[in-house]
Amino acid sequence: MLKEKPFWLKLFTSRTVWVTIYPNIYYPETIGDPIYEKEIVIHENVHLKQQSQYGKCKWLWRYVTNKDFRLQQEAEAMAVEVLSRSPEMREEYIAYYSEKLSGTFYHHAATSLLEAELAIRAEITKLVSI
Ligand SMILES: [Zn+2]
Repeated sequence: MLKEKPFWLKLFTSRTVWVTIYPNIYYPETIGDPIYEKEIVIHENVHLKQQSQYGKCKWLWRYVTNKDFRLQQEAEAMAVEVLSRSPEMREEYIAYYSEKLSGTFYHHAATSLLEAELAIRAEITKLVSI
């Protein structure tokens, strides 16, 4: 369910960050209406599915403490999101997310831009080869 971030979550997260804690997707206060962020909702829905399959608490703990797990889970969500975007925008988003995955935003889930890009492309390949 899509919800505005509650005050306690605002205390721990940046203003622009989306947070998914099964069964809810919390959108940032900077978003007027999440209906216009269809692709990000698609991304967050992947995290809902991951959390429900893996176990919410176990997933959240592992996501925070294990960078390889964080990289794989994000790469999967990013791949689904990228494929939901128009084909001419996909490369731009792969580059954008590769930078985010290897930077402070995702606490250096990937150690380099290349590692991040390869992780996203590997997940895209899995999805398109099904
Ligand atoms: Zn994500």
